Amino acid sequence: MATTKTESPKRVIKKSTNRRNPLDPKRIAAILDILAKTYPGVVCALHHRNAWELTVATILSAQCTDVRVNIVTPALFKAFPTPKAMAEASLPEIEELIRTVGFFRSKAKSIQGAARIVVNEFGGKIPQTMDEILRLPGVARKTANVVLGSWYGIAVGVVVDTHVMRLSRRLELTKQITPQKIELDLMKIIPEDRWINFSHELIHHGRQVCIARKPRCIDCTLEKLCFSSEKTWTSHAH
Ligand code: SF4
Repeated sequence: MATTKTESPKRVIKKSTNRRNPLDPKRIAAILDILAKTYPGVVCALHHRNAWELTVATILSAQCTDVRVNIVTPALFKAFPTPKAMAEASLPEIEELIRTVGFFRSKAKSIQGAARIVVNEFGGKIPQTMDEILRLPGVARKTANVVLGSWYGIAVGVVVDTHVMRLSRRLELTKQITPQKIELDLMKIIPEDRWINFSHELIHHGRQVCIARKPRCIDCTLEKLCFSSEKTWTSHAH
């Protein structure tokens, strides 16, 4: 008698061929495209009329909101409208005008010191190279990138502030945690002609939507491209 062999169905083991690559150039291009469309014509939120004012405002903005800085700078620039006037001002005079900004004493010293170097070594004008601008007290790479990029239109690097740090990591554009290393990663994957606007756009997105404590993912134009574990809402499986 013939026996029937019951064959167990073969398990088909599919090799996953679609492992997600967060740095896929097409994904990066899509992120850049969405950001540009979401924030067209975005500019630096610090009020300023020239490179000197932008430098001062950026020094003041360390660990302080742009809104607060924009409240104090009109009176400061009215009292001391040029680097020369600021260089000749006394520290107590500067401190008095910026005292509602955090760390106002050290910032007053930085502004006065920067004004003196600008007057004595750069003919009263903010220099246009990274090396020179970094010689001003209170000016680190972030401030230098803001001034060179936003005022002079010179893209030497990417501005990495607290928003750019947080969003770059949430969007998996970097795994680094220090601003310097994050900037290097971003410079590798973002086209140079997008460096300046990319950071403005990310800063706006960080303030308005991808906020630190509770990102508003349901309102986020980047949501479909985002796989962050910090998401508060998702339209797709992780
Ligand atoms: S989906 Fe959420 S976490 Fe991702 S970028 Fe948008 S707001 Fe941020």
